[in-house]
Amino acid sequence: MPKAKYPPIFDGHNDTILEILRGRNFFEKSDKGHIDLPRAQKGGLGGGFFAVFVPSPRPMAGWPGLNSNPDGSYHIPLPDPLEHRYARDFATKALRKLFALETDSKGAVKIVRTADELAQCLDDGTFAMILHFEGVEAIDTNLDSLHVFYQAGLRSVGITWSRPNAFGYGVPFAFPLGPDTGPGLTDAGKALVKECNQLGIMIDLSHLNEKGFWDVAELSNAPLVATHSNAHALAATPRNLTDKQLDAVKESGGIVGINYHIGFLRKDGRSDQETSYAEIVRHAAYIADRIGIDHVGLGSDFDGATMPQDLKDAAGLPKLMDALKEHGFDKKALKKIAHGNWVRVLKKTWR
Ligand SMILES: [Zn+2]
Repeated sequence: MPKAKYPPIFDGHNDTILEILRGRNFFEKSDKGHIDLPRAQKGGLGGGFFAVFVPSPRPMAGWPGLNSNPDGSYHIPLPDPLEHRYARDFATKALRKLFALETDSKGAVKIVRTADELAQCLDDGTFAMILHFEGVEAIDTNLDSLHVFYQAGLRSVGITWSRPNAFGYGVPFAFPLGPDTGPGLTDAGKALVKECNQLGIMIDLSHLNEKGFWDVAELSNAPLVATHSNAHALAATPRNLTDKQLDAVKESGGIVGINYHIGFLRKDGRSDQETSYAEIVRHAAYIADRIGIDHVGLGSDFDGATMPQDLKDAAGLPKLMDALKEHGFDKKALKKIAHGNWVRVLKKTWR
């Protein structure tokens, strides 16, 4: 087998499970969406966090469409909270589908549960999936199901997907706006952080509002992680992290996965199709300059957002690696960005 040009990429966030539930065959190359196994292999994508995201029964108007106001500003109201049982049933169905996919892959895909398994997969080319809940509505506030889902393989949770729930409050989809948009974690949210620490489940801060972020920073003994967020200084959406938040990520030994969604990359916040993956490099460079290369990873948001036109999908990742290299990241730095930092953080978090 020819040696790959770049180290395998491990990615902080995708919404591909939703597409698989809607009928995408993961083993066949498609032109739709962003990830299937052939395109992942072509682009050097070795795996990632696979999000179980429970869609609201009524779709959210305006996402991820174009900005509504002529001056480029927008504010999309969040959908209503989800009912726990509805979310639990959806999540259970999603997990069943993913376990079946793992079986059908005959060894090509593995749902990884330890950092050693992840490192092994990246080494031998087995496609690695980490089970992630984007919003924890499927978990009851007694946390009983957290333990059950952990046993099934859950290794990462985002406390909210923007939509409020029993555990906390997320940021709206808006521009320009800061992330301080509401109250912090509820008591159930605080208990969840402690329980996740104890079990070894990663807590994802993307989508959480600023007070919730600081609550986790205070309570958690694990590195702080934002799986798919960018620098607020470069694109003023509350989905991105302020400099102070970035500094806290560094302090904790954590990581930021750079999100490729054009609206979270661009200075003007516009979801303009004419956006280039050079914008991804701009955010990676800013965060590396501010808090160091050890805290930069990738967090595409593939299959959940609008990609830069010239990147297109997972098969386009070598172009992004070329651009990161051209920017001046050396071989060692590229390996850290590609997967090294993720593996380090997960080793520390999962124990
Ligand atoms: Zn997201």
